[in-house]
Amino acid sequence: TPRSESIRLRSALEALPAYVAGKPAANGAGPRFKVSSNESPFPPPAAVREAVITAMDSANRYPDMGAVALREALGALHGVDPTQIAVSTGSVAVCGDLVRAVVDPGDEVVFAWRSFEAYPILVGSHGGVSVPVPLTATFEHDLETMAAAITDRTRLVLLCTPNNPTGPSLTTEQIRVFLSRVPEHVVVALDEAYREFHDPDSVAETATIFRDHPNVVLLRTFSKMQGLAGLRIGYAVAHPRLARALGQVTVPFGAGSLAQAAALASCEPAVMAELEQRAAWIREERARVADALRAQGWELPVSQGNFLYFPLAERSAQFAAFAEQRGLVLRAYGVDGVRATIAEQEANDLLIDICGQWRERDA
Ligand code: PMP
Repeated sequence: TPRSESIRLRSALEALPAYVAGKPAANGAGPRFKVSSNESPFPPPAAVREAVITAMDSANRYPDMGAVALREALGALHGVDPTQIAVSTGSVAVCGDLVRAVVDPGDEVVFAWRSFEAYPILVGSHGGVSVPVPLTATFEHDLETMAAAITDRTRLVLLCTPNNPTGPSLTTEQIRVFLSRVPEHVVVALDEAYREFHDPDSVAETATIFRDHPNVVLLRTFSKMQGLAGLRIGYAVAHPRLARALGQVTVPFGAGSLAQAAALASCEPAVMAELEQRAAWIREERARVADALRAQGWELPVSQGNFLYFPLAERSAQFAAFAEQRGLVLRAYGVDGVRATIAEQEANDLLIDICGQWRERDA
């Protein structure tokens, strides 16, 4: 067999952390739920399915590379020109495009840690330098320290709000104060993958912030509330110059035609109303589960996402294994904590039950 050891890979790859995806729930006795990837428990609405089936008829053709119809719809939704929308194959790809558009090898990217696990991979694989800033004791962004971490080499700051996997979000005021300390040539991305699950009364006014700051980019996805994780489509709202740059570096035809059709259908007012009802249900379930767990004695950070975070430190893996034995696949993060997605009611009830068992065993 040919020897592959002689292939020369970039040395940077050795230092890249692995993306540990949520594993599927294995078949076994009793109900099993995969609540490890913050997916929607609901399949896409019927109108979205119809749109995808129709798009199949021309799947022999390449997708619209400019995603014109979708970008027009998204522009209208966000009150911006379609030239300010950049689409690609999931918001993780758009985030990678952002790195490729603004970071030269050796440039720095500041983000909170722990946050979305793709960040250090996207930065490191492009030759950028990750500057992770530890979360506060309450698992929130330490914006003070993040602002102080900005140097002459900083090109990008990633703020994840609500923060995956811990849950807290940033307020309008916090973001504004932070931006006042960031030089205008540094791009600040607000990763709002979980925005739709935020308590609507207190969600940050990022649209207004965006209008006031040309260096702010909003990252959004159809994977969570819209339930299109399997189709892979996300986008950025950005200054036209930056949006154009994202279009330059993105993988050609990254947003497939089925994904574009599904996303476009998800922007229809009637479908959006249905999706919003689902998000409201998830918010209610999150409150119900969090209340039940706190009554059991758990101390959890306040979550504005479709998930809860258990800061179990070195017992994280043990807790995840405990839950898995009882039918719930969670996501453990090293010696930091464990994340559970708020999913269908049966899964949420099982989570409450398992957490209660863990507390009792502990007592
Ligand atoms: N940002 C955050 C904070 C996420 O948690 C995720 C998905 N886990 C993404 C971005 C990426 O979403 P997608 O690529 O599916 O659009």
